[in-house]
Amino acid sequence: MGTPGSTLGLWLTDLWGLFVPRRCAGCDTTLMRFEECLCLGCLEELPRTRFHDDPGNRVEQLFQGKVPLACASALLHFSSTGMVQRILHRIKYNEDREAARFLGSLMAADLMASPRFSGVDLILAVPLHPGKLRKRGYNQSQLLVDGMREAWPKDNPKHALVRTVHTASQTKRGRLDRWRNVKDAFELRDIDALAGKHVLLVDDVVTTGATIEGCAIALQEAPGVRISVFAAACA
Ligand SMILES: [Zn+2]
Repeated sequence: MGTPGSTLGLWLTDLWGLFVPRRCAGCDTTLMRFEECLCLGCLEELPRTRFHDDPGNRVEQLFQGKVPLACASALLHFSSTGMVQRILHRIKYNEDREAARFLGSLMAADLMASPRFSGVDLILAVPLHPGKLRKRGYNQSQLLVDGMREAWPKDNPKHALVRTVHTASQTKRGRLDRWRNVKDAFELRDIDALAGKHVLLVDDVVTTGATIEGCAIALQEAPGVRISVFAAACA
């Protein structure tokens, strides 16, 4: 028997579900009331990387010889047609905060269990350009960070790192130009907040690593900073 409060909560969830069925972000079936974001079948099938504690894992390899990181990893393997793509799409384009909270809680649980990430002092989402943020209204990586911090309440100095160059509009440039461009796209605005700290950079998907590298280059201006990376998925 639950408390009267939780009974009322479940009753309200059921009542709400009569009108607006909650759907699994993976397979679109109607969720049971105890399921959050994913049905149990999809939760079981999430393609977890489980390589957070392996030095030289696939995400760390992206940055070797480019920028010094303490450690890097991703929660899931990304495939452009599968369940992970659908969940991330919901977060990025539909502002699905329930999905972000859910994925963020899985990310936090993995990191809290990982000895290599145990020294993290604060979390930063990879920032969007202010123009893009205004247009979209939210930063999908910040939604993940908000979800992570519910379980893992680390500091989150949101304005310490900013994106000063809008890279999405540069599609006509050559590949090398875009790479240089994204590497110069970030600026550290609050050195004191980050000096001597172990900073965890969070992104939704890491592919080439160029964006993260740009962030890390800017963060390195803070004396004594250590930088780690965790993405929801790696391509
Ligand atoms: Zn499902």
